[in-house]
Amino acid sequence: MKTLLSGGTVVTATDLYRGDVLIEDEKIAAVAMPGGLTPEGGQIPVDRTIDASGKYIIPGGIDVHTHLDMPFGGTTSADDFESGTVAAAHGGTTSVVDFAIQYRGQTLRHALDTWTKKAEGKAAIDYGFHMIVTELTDSVEGEMDALVREGVTSFKLFMAYPGVFMLDDGSIFRALLRTRENGGTICMHAENGGVIDVLVKRALAEGKTAPKYHALTRPARAEGEATYRAIALAEMAGVPIYIVHLSAAEALEMVTEARDRGLPAYAETCPQYLFLSYDNYEEPDFSGAKYVMSPPLRPKETQDRLWRGLAGSDLQAVSTDHCPFCMKEQKELGRGDFSKIPNGAPGIETRMSLVFDGGVRTGKIGLNRFVELTSTSPAKIFGLFPRKGTVAPGSDADLVVFDPNKKQKLSAKTLHMKVDYNPYEGREVTGAAETVLSRGKVIVEKGRFVGKAGAGSFLKRSPRS
Ligand SMILES: [Zn+2]
Repeated sequence: MKTLLSGGTVVTATDLYRGDVLIEDEKIAAVAMPGGLTPEGGQIPVDRTIDASGKYIIPGGIDVHTHLDMPFGGTTSADDFESGTVAAAHGGTTSVVDFAIQYRGQTLRHALDTWTKKAEGKAAIDYGFHMIVTELTDSVEGEMDALVREGVTSFKLFMAYPGVFMLDDGSIFRALLRTRENGGTICMHAENGGVIDVLVKRALAEGKTAPKYHALTRPARAEGEATYRAIALAEMAGVPIYIVHLSAAEALEMVTEARDRGLPAYAETCPQYLFLSYDNYEEPDFSGAKYVMSPPLRPKETQDRLWRGLAGSDLQAVSTDHCPFCMKEQKELGRGDFSKIPNGAPGIETRMSLVFDGGVRTGKIGLNRFVELTSTSPAKIFGLFPRKGTVAPGSDADLVVFDPNKKQKLSAKTLHMKVDYNPYEGREVTGAAETVLSRGKVIVEKGRFVGKAGAGSFLKRSPRS
């Protein structure tokens, strides 16, 4: 099966040029100047030609932070691996790395089996897993090595949620040391959970129950402190570290300081921290619950700081922390007690368009950087490059024909995520995925999903070299 993408502008993390892309089965077979793949005077014998003129041809988006079908606080995130990956595809994302969760008293193997069952036969795009470690025993350390060999090469640890997910500093340090041996990467949820717990209890005792108190009990400094501590622990262990969903200027300063000293400290931020702010918690009635996530939305001024971090080299990726809960029956669980509002919001489908519209079109970041932040850099950090994350011969033909002029009004009614609200409701964005290919197969065509649930396969990722 041969497919030709013709007449488009190929954009990678480093290059931008007019070019044709030839796909053979699941892989990119060749990239050449326009017409360069056509034999003299004749036509290249392809099964299908897709006209990409006036459009960008970019590597499919890679979202390394999603929570599909995830239990939280007595309920489960609204998108499963089918609806979530179909929505991702609509938005131009062709790979996700989701989180399997080890609950205390369970093995990592059990967690991986559980999450594999959730994804198999459902995922419409390729998927990998990070492993959330909530209890580190000697046998769990051994299991970490086994998982790395099987392509689950990153582990997420929590400095927040004491009694549920939080690990003490000693356990974190041991896990970091272990990755020095096995080539894994530690991802950190960096918020000081002890401090937050005290503030939450105090707020509730004072009768402060509205959604905004979720943010007011999670100070930016608690994120800054934990980010500093996480990086310091990694420095002492002599390994890289990846900070997930960085939201606060106080945390970014810690990453910047570490990188200035030459440390391999990496961090991602998410669209919600670039486009929304604390002000959203002040929306009337219970609407603030839509934005209850951890870390919380920060003051509006933070947005510019984060964009500068993305434009420079202090932040390496934009992922979504996609973890949707409906207002009805889910977020509502926390009416009268903000600490019972399920944490999370939808974002898997809107990431590429938001970052393009708010970043590239405003001149905050260039086109190459857009591709780097949404695809190439996460692929490199998490062991998927060069199979994913670029447009090059031999790479998987995960490609997006991206129309830079297509306008779209974001709305829960028209988006495909299975959730009854959208945090960006009514926002107009320009720039959207038009045609999306996953390993050579067209899965989205002019806004219609034409792929198949279950067509996505497990991504065995490489350890750090
Ligand atoms: Zn998360």
